[in-house]
Amino acid sequence: MLCLRGQGVVKGYAIGRAAVMGAAALEVVHYRIQPEAVEEECARLKAALAQARDELQHMVANLPDDAPREMGALLTVHSMLLDDRMLSEQACNLIIERHYNAEWALTTQGQVLGEQFAAMEDEYLRERGTDIRQVIERVLRVLSGTPVALPQFDSGYSGELIVVARDISPADMLRLRGARFGAFLTDLGGPTSHTAIVARSMNVPAVVGMGNIRTLVRDGDLLIVDGMSGAVLVNPPDFVLEEYRRRQAAYADDRAELGRLKYAEAVTLDGVQVKLEANIELPEEAEQALAAGADGIGLFRSEFLFMGRRDLPGEEEQYEAYATVVKAMQGRPVTIRTLDIGADKTLDGDATVATNPALGLRAIRYCLAHPEIFQTQLRALLRASVHGKLRILVPMIAHLHEVRAVRQAIAEAGQNLESRDISFDRNVEVGAMVEIPAIAIAIEPFVEQLDFLSIGTNDLIQYTLAIDRGDNDVADLYDPMHPAVLRLISHTINAAQRYGKSVAVCGEMAGDAQVTRMLLGLGLREFSMHPQQLLDVKKEVRQSHTNALRVKVASALNRAERINLDELAG
Ligand code: PEP
Ligand code: MG
Repeated sequence: MLCLRGQGVVKGYAIGRAAVMGAAALEVVHYRIQPEAVEEECARLKAALAQARDELQHMVANLPDDAPREMGALLTVHSMLLDDRMLSEQACNLIIERHYNAEWALTTQGQVLGEQFAAMEDEYLRERGTDIRQVIERVLRVLSGTPVALPQFDSGYSGELIVVARDISPADMLRLRGARFGAFLTDLGGPTSHTAIVARSMNVPAVVGMGNIRTLVRDGDLLIVDGMSGAVLVNPPDFVLEEYRRRQAAYADDRAELGRLKYAEAVTLDGVQVKLEANIELPEEAEQALAAGADGIGLFRSEFLFMGRRDLPGEEEQYEAYATVVKAMQGRPVTIRTLDIGADKTLDGDATVATNPALGLRAIRYCLAHPEIFQTQLRALLRASVHGKLRILVPMIAHLHEVRAVRQAIAEAGQNLESRDISFDRNVEVGAMVEIPAIAIAIEPFVEQLDFLSIGTNDLIQYTLAIDRGDNDVADLYDPMHPAVLRLISHTINAAQRYGKSVAVCGEMAGDAQVTRMLLGLGLREFSMHPQQLLDVKKEVRQSHTNALRVKVASALNRAERINLDELAG
């Protein structure tokens, strides 16, 4: 038995036969054309780009109703890349200036763009280099007249097939989704790759970043896939197979039980009502939040509307995006965070590189330094507030003068709307992210001046422990359970409760079912997380007793001891 490992990005088990997808990269012939053939070669390239774009647009227009939500957006991004001048014009220039043939020019320019993406700090944008490669492969196929090679099927085999590929483009995923696949395994990709995004929305186990599984596995090999640990077992013996069949069945039972919880209330054994909300990054995800039974949107990371593009979204575009979410949530609260740009999330074309970006001009600091960008966003937010219950959340607050400046900026945006006779909710609530230790330590005046708080544990941990959250070398020191972090969370929750203000946790901790009891013990009653984590957390809530937890957690905190999560269980 061979045991391979990658990054598990969609949980679940699969047992089935390998179906290996043909090499994605095509053989590309390089030759120089005659000077008189330049025009014709450019025309050939442009025709292929247009055909590839037409194919993608046709797919978008004819998406099946049950296609994963992200599919349309991903295919549209691909068709937009085909329109991008950086790709088509520069490739044509290579034909004109160096007399490369169309395929050579296209792959050369693709490499240039791919390297630019690969050098980006932000993981999400780095992954977008994959889009360039996939788009180019599609055009190369048009140029050579070779269709995509889908996995071969053995007609005699009735069990599940497991797709093994170098990587899978969104368009290929669309073609694959109709078939009976048990899991997706790819050599390339990370948690934000297309395979991961689409597999997650299809709820099919997936392991990415496997390195070279395509060369190690043959069609028909028996595979066990563990989407949790990222392990893939090739041709396992019977006793291992039995064990994984048992785990697969237990997991399916667990999921079925969780599914039933969707309509159950998030109430503890001692009758305490808990609010479970969703974190989203794009407006379309509101539907998923609603489907998971979220009580509202606890964090809409608005910066994703600004990233991966060269221009800034205007007031109208932002208004549409915010209004879409507010309307979709049908009166439930929608907390939209103002632009949290800087550090690991950068705007395209923003050339400034701070020596220490995490401590630099990020989030609210950036917005206050760029009033025109901030005002546009605030006007869009206020306009969207008429459609339901919209709350404005401000990231990285550390000073009271920042709170005052934000209130002032909101008033100014309101005056602008008034002068244009546009209505908005004048009582829109304004809250702050608690993610810098300074605000957590000196929280009282902030609570007084704000309507609500949301604890961003991802950054709070980073700044409290001086651990760069994106640096693998210190990842083992990134410790959500450090007593100092827990004291800051506890202090913030207590202060908010004393002042009768709402307080949530919206960092990753909120969605980790292993720490749900601990957070309940700290007094937390509002959690905001990825929609897929909601039912696991609800299950924990429904099995907890807050009074008992409060006593146990308080006594450990008083002694500044690490809390033993096992002691909180059961
Ligand atoms: C956080 O810091 O916990 C948070 C929710 O914000 P982000 O992860 O977007 O920085
Ligand atoms: Mg943060």
